[in-house]
Amino acid sequence: MKTLAKLHPKKGIWMNDAPYPKCGHNDVVVKIHKTAICGTDMHIYHWDEWAQNTIPVPMTVGHEFVGEIAEIGAEVNGFTIGDRVSGEGHITCGHCRNCRAGRRHLCRETLGVGVNRTGAFGEYLVIPASNAFKIPDDISDDMAAIFDPFGNATHTALSFDLTGEDVLITGAGPIGAMAAAIAKHVGARNVVITDVNDFRLSLAKKMGATRAVNVSNESLTEVMSELGMTEGFDVGLEMSGNGMAFSSMLECMNHGGKIAMLGIPSKDTKVDWNQVIFKGLIIKGIYGREMYETWYKMVAMLQSGLDISPIITHHFPISQFQAGFDAMASGQSGKVILNWD
Ligand code: NAD
Ligand code: ZN
Repeated sequence: MKTLAKLHPKKGIWMNDAPYPKCGHNDVVVKIHKTAICGTDMHIYHWDEWAQNTIPVPMTVGHEFVGEIAEIGAEVNGFTIGDRVSGEGHITCGHCRNCRAGRRHLCRETLGVGVNRTGAFGEYLVIPASNAFKIPDDISDDMAAIFDPFGNATHTALSFDLTGEDVLITGAGPIGAMAAAIAKHVGARNVVITDVNDFRLSLAKKMGATRAVNVSNESLTEVMSELGMTEGFDVGLEMSGNGMAFSSMLECMNHGGKIAMLGIPSKDTKVDWNQVIFKGLIIKGIYGREMYETWYKMVAMLQSGLDISPIITHHFPISQFQAGFDAMASGQSGKVILNWD
């Protein structure tokens, strides 16, 4: 079968021939229909330091997908051949204290599909059945293909009560823009999103942000006074991984404000702890999605009218995968879908 794999320890990604996967007792095999390219896939594509230290070569990559159940392990219940599914890309151990308590997103032994083990960019993918998530008929393949990053946005945005609150999102990448839509959907008042990329800011505006601020030429504090925000933001969602963005977030938070941090900062990021302490801020780190509360919330929000469809800006057949990676690398894209049919 065809797969898209990291075959060589250098920049790039290559089409490969791999054997059909073996379905274990507790596994399902998914026939892949659509996949989406994640920022993580771009790190792997560019072969940066993180990728060099993390990714085994050769390996099929990718973890954002929708497909249908093609094979079911002997011990698996609750799935039928042909069920449309997406899947949770974090494979957890099932034995640790958090797993046993149902807090699988906090498992200490998490392995990533397409990061630590064979990924979803292939004609077929094998995953534990407990990682597959059935998609209701009224949710499109495009939406289901991006449940993984939509889940990052959802887990982060729903970490704190947003109803009636003023929310600052730093970073208008695909996840930040989706978080803006979610924040508005659940009743935030002002949703201000920042970036340094105008294409992405305009996308975030389209998704419902009250104000999209290019911090390279606009002042966040001026925007706040324009909006009549005299005290600061109630909730911050850090989705850039940029140290300066996080510093300005700390400065713009109200006392008692709450911050959920998804963006992964570089090692040498400086934090003004005085802002955290004297403002009494609460900061929560976010990894992945809650299994499976986040997934049910995503379905429910789409079914109650949340529209995140503008985030998908490009579609390519899998034969044109290179154009897909180029679109992602250009900075002039939201989510890019690769079609395997
Ligand atoms: P992305 O790289 O597409 O988006 C980040 C955005 O931040 C970019 O649009 C960039 O222009 C913007 N940015 C750069 N400097 C900025 C500044 N000074 N102020 C405001 N914005 C600035 O990433 P994404 O796919 O949307 O993911 C968002 C972040 O979350 C990334 O850091 C990613 O690594 C991280 N992430 C974390 C998890 C997790 O489980 N914790 C999962 C997925 C992604
Ligand atoms: Zn565990």
